[in-house]
Amino acid sequence: MKLRPVQIIGAGLAGSEAAWQLAMAGVPVVLTEMRPLRPTEVHKTDGFAELVCSNSFRSDDAQGNAVGLLHEEMRRLGSLIMACGDAHKVPAGGALAVDRDAFSAAVTERLKSHPLIEIRRGEVEGLPPDDQDNVIIATGPLTSPALAAAIGEVTGQASLAFFDAIAPIVHRDSIDMDKAWFQSRYDKVGPGGTGADYINCPMNRDEYEAFVDALLAGDKVGFKEFEGTPYFDGCLPIEVMAERGRETLRFGPMKPVGLTNPRDPTVKSHAIVQLRQDNALGTLYNMVGFQTKLRHGEQSRVFKMIPGLENAEFARLGGLHRNTYLNSPVLLDGTLRLKAMPRLRFAGQITGCEGYVESAGIGLIAGRFAAAERLGHAPLTPPPTTAIGALLNHITGGHLVTEEAGPRSFQPMNVNFGLFPPIEEALKSEDGKRLRGNDKTLAKKKAMSARALRDLADWQSRAKASAAA
Ligand SMILES: Cc1cc2nc3c(=O)[nH]c(=O)nc-3n(C[C@H](O)[C@H](O)[C@H](O)COP(=O)(O)OP(=O)(O)OC[C@H]3O[C@@H](n4cnc5c(N)ncnc54)[C@H](O)[C@@H]3O)c2cc1C
Repeated sequence: MKLRPVQIIGAGLAGSEAAWQLAMAGVPVVLTEMRPLRPTEVHKTDGFAELVCSNSFRSDDAQGNAVGLLHEEMRRLGSLIMACGDAHKVPAGGALAVDRDAFSAAVTERLKSHPLIEIRRGEVEGLPPDDQDNVIIATGPLTSPALAAAIGEVTGQASLAFFDAIAPIVHRDSIDMDKAWFQSRYDKVGPGGTGADYINCPMNRDEYEAFVDALLAGDKVGFKEFEGTPYFDGCLPIEVMAERGRETLRFGPMKPVGLTNPRDPTVKSHAIVQLRQDNALGTLYNMVGFQTKLRHGEQSRVFKMIPGLENAEFARLGGLHRNTYLNSPVLLDGTLRLKAMPRLRFAGQITGCEGYVESAGIGLIAGRFAAAERLGHAPLTPPPTTAIGALLNHITGGHLVTEEAGPRSFQPMNVNFGLFPPIEEALKSEDGKRLRGNDKTLAKKKAMSARALRDLADWQSRAKASAAA
């Protein structure tokens, strides 16, 4: 039986990987890329999977780093992006860095020469016609304006963002709860709350003044020319708020009202930083209202001045960038299809993941879901204990959506161990002693990685059996 092709829009990291996965499953693909007929503001070539900035896929350590683990899982799932990355790697210590031109040329060549893949060049300017029943949209952070407008019409304009406004996220177990405490402002319970939903970090006057000085002096990243300056009230970077007056933060995201430090109930804190639960697992907390353009090194240094965060481990640091992406936890189903129009599936950075490898990983899984659908199999989602499953889960529901004024709560995210279900059992050294500190952190990561690769193998065999049935 001749299968109808799956349409893919965009031959970046995600679209290229999705096309490969489909073709390797025996499903024909039409892959449409607008470059070079219509350029983006940052791509420089007409090659597929062009790396627009750094040439690094980051850490290649599959035991101690979540992106290294994602590399390994993708290799085991027959990833084209990883195969071409490995074939064209350049020396970079523990990172996997690639010769960007040779890498992109290899991806382009492999896709062009696959008999099941038809390449078309041209901009897709609106929603695909109704007779295209299985489409993957992988047009990335710089989706062309005409297509973005059409997507905005189906999703609702408020659900498609054109800038991110990223506040840092901290691993819950790195917050010093001897200094911080749980409480919601005025103990308000709110929908689904307990009255003690936020972690509060208090500051006295001297600590606040020193913190404002550090913010003002901190080195910031500028906007690129094509980005413009996307400030709007409700989403100002904290350092810009601090520039507007030394008291601004105390009357904004750091206001101390309605909160009482249980260790010192008679003394009013001068300012308070609040962190809110970010994922259903409760392993990650975001710093409320702390979107920032400070450089990453500066963020780690300055935010560790906050009492309770001295040893904070950051799952994500803050930023503000031009970026087109969906409010995916609300809009997409578990297999990345738009609930309002299930013939459209999204992949890559437009779903709210961040980074080359994560975008390719979500392309990989979108390609597999689309292939299963075309071949009439039930798509099996990867377990959330795997890196690819944890990332997918975050995008399609693991993140806790909060609706408040200001930037919306779902913001782009790299893969990290905070997205994985925790390891419950106590970790012990070879001589049976309970591990602590750094040794415990390393052992936890190792245990999570081992569990991920075991569960990935199990999922692969279940997926194979389901396809054969
Ligand atoms: C300025 C900038 C710098 C970045 N630096 C890094 C970095 O250093 N490291 C990192 O890991 N990540 C970085 N990122 C993020 C990175 O771009 C993405 O993670 C990754 O490229 C996204 O992959 P993607 O496949 O979703 O999108 P892309 O790789 O951007 O691919 C999307 C493709 O769709 C095409 N397209 C768009 N609209 C249409 C249309 N209407 N019709 C047809 N084709 C269309 C585009 O031409 C493009 O080829 C950066 C992003 C930006 C914007």
